[in-house]
Amino acid sequence: MPTTTPTPVPTPASAPHYPEQLTGMDILARALKNVGIENVYGLVGIPITEAAYLIQAQGIRFVGFRHEQQAGMAAATEGFLTKKPGVLMTVSSLGFLNGLTATANATVNCYPMIQISGASDPTMVDMNMGTYEQLDQFNTAKGLVKAVFRCSHAKDIPSAVMRAYRAAVSGRPGGVYIDMTTPALGEIMNAADVEKLFYEPVDLYSPVAPNAAAVDRAVKILTSAKKPAILLGKGAAYAQVDDKIKTLIEKYSIPYFPMSMAKGLMPDDGPLSALSCRSTIMEQADVVMIIGARLNWLLSFGKGKWSQDIKFIQLDVESQEMDVNRPIAAPVVGDMGLSLDAILAGLEGKTMSADPEWLASLQAETKVKGAKFAARIDSARTMMPMHHWTALGVIKPILEGNPDVILINEGANTLDDTRDAINMSLPRHRVDCATWAIMGMGMGSAIGAAVATGKSVVAVEGDSAFGFSGMDFSTACRFNLPLTVVVFNNGGIYNGVGVPLDKTSDPAPTTLDIRARYDRLGDAFGAQTYYVQTPDELQKALTESIASKKPCLIDVQLAADSGAESGHIGYLNPAPLIDIKV
Ligand code: ADP
Ligand code: MG
Repeated sequence: MPTTTPTPVPTPASAPHYPEQLTGMDILARALKNVGIENVYGLVGIPITEAAYLIQAQGIRFVGFRHEQQAGMAAATEGFLTKKPGVLMTVSSLGFLNGLTATANATVNCYPMIQISGASDPTMVDMNMGTYEQLDQFNTAKGLVKAVFRCSHAKDIPSAVMRAYRAAVSGRPGGVYIDMTTPALGEIMNAADVEKLFYEPVDLYSPVAPNAAAVDRAVKILTSAKKPAILLGKGAAYAQVDDKIKTLIEKYSIPYFPMSMAKGLMPDDGPLSALSCRSTIMEQADVVMIIGARLNWLLSFGKGKWSQDIKFIQLDVESQEMDVNRPIAAPVVGDMGLSLDAILAGLEGKTMSADPEWLASLQAETKVKGAKFAARIDSARTMMPMHHWTALGVIKPILEGNPDVILINEGANTLDDTRDAINMSLPRHRVDCATWAIMGMGMGSAIGAAVATGKSVVAVEGDSAFGFSGMDFSTACRFNLPLTVVVFNNGGIYNGVGVPLDKTSDPAPTTLDIRARYDRLGDAFGAQTYYVQTPDELQKALTESIASKKPCLIDVQLAADSGAESGHIGYLNPAPLIDIKV
């Protein structure tokens, strides 16, 4: 029997075949994965919504915020805590500008982060055609960040992401901006061509060593010091060279004092801690080694109380930081780890000339100051309504007993008093409003810290400071993060004196609302909430909140007259010519 040949069924090979195609958005998601990005913080809308879904599909966590500035604060905090750039994604125009404030702040603070913003077609922007959300974002960002890139073609995306990463972490870390234009995001490429754009980047962070003469000079000055001290800044904390710093300090018995975000790099209450002797060191030390800090306004520009005779040794990755405000006797320019290795090697076998009386006198002063401090907290213990120090007297032992909780802190009096009250004992466990002393970093920073580390976070916030970012507490709730927010409600910026409760006239510029119930904001989003008026209530609320590892919000009712204008830095206010009646 003759066999009939069946009609051939089209096989995949013979079927019409279109090569697999990818958009610029797919390429962006893959480029982020390729450099090891684990979290992206942002707020979607035209033209980045689909890109965010594709980022999630790559297994990258996308943390969607309610305000771009807070998403940016989260990215910056991840950068500070991990030494890898945090990534912020924003929409064009206002979203870009909202996020840019955080990227600029990151740059000032030397935190590595990358802001990627959707942007209009640059050819239309350049011709001022009035396109959707038209803004020359590339040039707007330029003056505020370390580096800027613009992708007008999808093929440029992988390279832009890798170069942005290098720029963010290299040398002095900072913020980088990528203008991700709509044409690039929507452009379609063949998968095979896309494949060719990717490569394994080598040495995304390449540490640079200091020169030998600089190290010798530093070692000579340090070993000849009679009254040496080490000033630790947040650059030292960022560098993750904790063991080297500990060796330098402990092996050579050098007293240290930290800037606020370097607290805990060495324990605040350790035997060599001169945390409370800052003025004495400024006036009496003969050699101060500055590790990752700047002699800026936070250190009186190296003037004021600082003795004219001090010789400074400064370790910094940024050569232009040397001689800012004060001549530096021994600049050591280079990566912190390599600089410390070289200095430790140079010190090997050498003896210090420090006067033992120096350390003994600082330790004696620390004891006296410690007793005064305890008395201050004690005297506030029974104040009702509570004052800042009443509340801090309760919070102090709880946080010090949970040293692995990351503390986020902003406000005026709330910042100054909390920084002074809470001793830290682990590195990179305190993030605050830092170099610019800005308000409005709280919720973003707290969320970034929780997401980047998986640790529990407590944010101690002034009521005014909380107002800037309060809505993003809802983000912590949606992502079920282990974050406790403690709002110190004294009813105002600085304090709440002068609130016309009967609403017969406008409130003063500084007054908010002493009767506001911030805890109810937490209720709206399903958080565990507390309104506390007494130390006992606060103690119970904070202990339960930390133990719950869930989003919690505690409104701490303070007295309206607790707190002074500008906290500890009232001297920066221009003196008024009129009497301010409150
Ligand atoms: P603080 O506010 O604690 O005084 P600053 O932000 O003023 O700290 O100073 C931090 C300094 O640390 C900056 O000058 C920065 O260049 C430097 N720095 C940051 N990272 C490194 C690093 N990896 N190696 C060396 N220096 C660094
Ligand atoms: Mg207040």
